[in-house]
Amino acid sequence: MNDFLTNTLNGEQPSKLFGETLYFHWKWIECGILQLTPLDSSMLVERDCVLSAGIHGNETCGVEILNQLLQNLFANTIPLKCRLLVIFGNIDALRANKRFLFCDMNRMFGGRWQNCASSCERDRAALLEEAVVDFWNDGDDGRERWHLDLHTTFKGSYQHTSFGILPARATSWDEGFLGWLGTIVEALVFHQSQNGTFSNFSSQFNAFSCTVELETGPHGKKNFYEFNHIQSELEKLISGGQIGKPPPDHKQPAIRYKVKHQITRQREEFNLYFPLNTLNFTPFTRGTLIAQDGDSNYIVQNETEYILFPNPARSLGKRAGLMLVKEC
Ligand SMILES: [Zn+2]
Repeated sequence: MNDFLTNTLNGEQPSKLFGETLYFHWKWIECGILQLTPLDSSMLVERDCVLSAGIHGNETCGVEILNQLLQNLFANTIPLKCRLLVIFGNIDALRANKRFLFCDMNRMFGGRWQNCASSCERDRAALLEEAVVDFWNDGDDGRERWHLDLHTTFKGSYQHTSFGILPARATSWDEGFLGWLGTIVEALVFHQSQNGTFSNFSSQFNAFSCTVELETGPHGKKNFYEFNHIQSELEKLISGGQIGKPPPDHKQPAIRYKVKHQITRQREEFNLYFPLNTLNFTPFTRGTLIAQDGDSNYIVQNETEYILFPNPARSLGKRAGLMLVKEC
């Protein structure tokens, strides 16, 4: 497997569909999906990992990180000590450098694509679900399941240049997983209800999963320091290395927030009371009017609430922002 990303973008089936390196056996599952299994099972760390990127086709930082990680694995520069599934998500959108071609794939998982019109995203979401379920089912019972879905946010942040969004979970989170996330992101945001994200889907199979958002500058210009740091921590994670420390400018441990309210446009008569250029994690104080949807208002009720993914241009039925509160 010379260059999995080039292969994927060309839509080619590789000449060999499986093979071995010094440390692992690899198997090409489908376009953009590769499974790696360590040869020496006695050296396995306690978790199986899914690493995915490019679910949104214009968010390429994570794709570059995973491609580099694969190149280092295939060059035997780092060993592999966990079962690993690497996924490049929306291939058609990656080729076009667009978030999606027809529908946002990260709203389609967990029983939702079945209700969508036929599209490349619908077919791909179905295929990714199948690949992930097969991967979890093929692993030994009792092993931890980790899924990190790498995304990029182009909107600037008032604070926290990288953050993780965690799906709602019926059982408690593993502090080891949350602590590891704190080495790569500055903030953790906990959803309180189910949604159609890829990480939410994995969570339904008892995986510890997270949508990891890396902030880039305008036009997707990456932050090399953060990029290299995450690359290095992911390599340590899969190769059994000592888990590292967060960069010195990160607050430790990661600040925790929970989603208090999702602003979704329900009616034609809809007004948002924050400016177009509002940044992620901008604080608002109690009593501030945030949104007016018909005769229903959203007013900040806690001493401080923070907005995430503010989007004043949202059309009917779409999310215009998430309101967060800090966890004590
Ligand atoms: Zn994304």
